[in-house]
Amino acid sequence: MTTGSLDPVALLQGLIRCPSVTPAEGGALALLETELGKLGFRCHRLRFEEPGFAPVENLYARFGTAGPNFCFAGHTDVVPVGDPAGWTVDPFGGEIAAGNIYGRGAADMKGGVAAFVAAAARVVAALRHGSISLLITGDEEGDAVNGTVKVLEWLAANGEKLDACLVGEPTNPNRLGDMVKIGRRGSMTGTLKVSGTQGHAAYPHLADNPLPRLAAMCERLANTPLDTGSDHFPATTLALTTIDVGNPASNVIPAEGRAVFNIRFNDLHTSDSIKRWADQICAGVGGRYELSWRVSGESFLTPPGQLSTLVAGAIEAETGIAPELSTTGGTSDARFIRSYCPVVEFGLVGQTMHKVDEHVAVADVVKLTAIYERVLRSYFRFG
Ligand SMILES: [Zn+2]
Repeated sequence: MTTGSLDPVALLQGLIRCPSVTPAEGGALALLETELGKLGFRCHRLRFEEPGFAPVENLYARFGTAGPNFCFAGHTDVVPVGDPAGWTVDPFGGEIAAGNIYGRGAADMKGGVAAFVAAAARVVAALRHGSISLLITGDEEGDAVNGTVKVLEWLAANGEKLDACLVGEPTNPNRLGDMVKIGRRGSMTGTLKVSGTQGHAAYPHLADNPLPRLAAMCERLANTPLDTGSDHFPATTLALTTIDVGNPASNVIPAEGRAVFNIRFNDLHTSDSIKRWADQICAGVGGRYELSWRVSGESFLTPPGQLSTLVAGAIEAETGIAPELSTTGGTSDARFIRSYCPVVEFGLVGQTMHKVDEHVAVADVVKLTAIYERVLRSYFRFG
């Protein structure tokens, strides 16, 4: 067993050189498996292939057998390069220039993964109790069907319990230390179809025009506030994204009209309570209508407490910055993990994620490693 001398920057370069665009594994998990194996982690490669979706490779690695089990969750898959001509460097080259390391996934989030593995390397030899584990998926940027959700189910089925989880997504808007995510808003999309009876525009009394009702429902949905925000979340928002009738004839009253709207909701609601709310609004207008839904994720919050205090303390000790505990932004795999254990997110600076010339500062990768090491040391209360 070798410990203590794993260079996070070299590991990040190695990971960037694995072209792991979702759903390709690209050698990234194999590289992690090798490095973690050398440190004494027991590795499980988990391949899931739900029909209708691309099969995906995942990795669960654990050092130790006893609880508590501190888990780091992340992904090695990356979004496509985009326009290759837009890049000034090889997107899979892992080049270092002017203090930055370049490549697809440098920020989102091979940098976080490399930092955590290097941090773990520094503490495993001294770990006297508990376990350190990594849940690394290859399906975060894709459908998220054959990834974290299924790994979590596999863990539960195999008696693997997680006690706390740190997700290494790039949470900082500008500087390392800016922001820890302690929850996320929920997101759901509603489709409203309002039906009537088609007819001649000159004889509206013989038809039943659905459009005034559609307009009234849209107006009430958009202008009835759901709340004014909660302790850690902004107010729930509803945005109408389209209203479609598709009627080319000016002398025909259409039989149907349709609207689509997206709701970003806080922890005062669940997707079910929002569905009931929207149904009430539409029923208040009356007539025949149909609401259908796609729920992308429920809102969740790990209330500020032990885990967020510990992570924020480690960040402040290393950077001098007291991070904001935030619930802003899009969604992440934390939305699945939160059903199993407390989860917070902290990683690198996200400014260039998904862009051309994605990069992070070498100094930030080194600093993040120190932060993660400090998190582990204070979680297990040693050194
Ligand atoms: Zn990510």
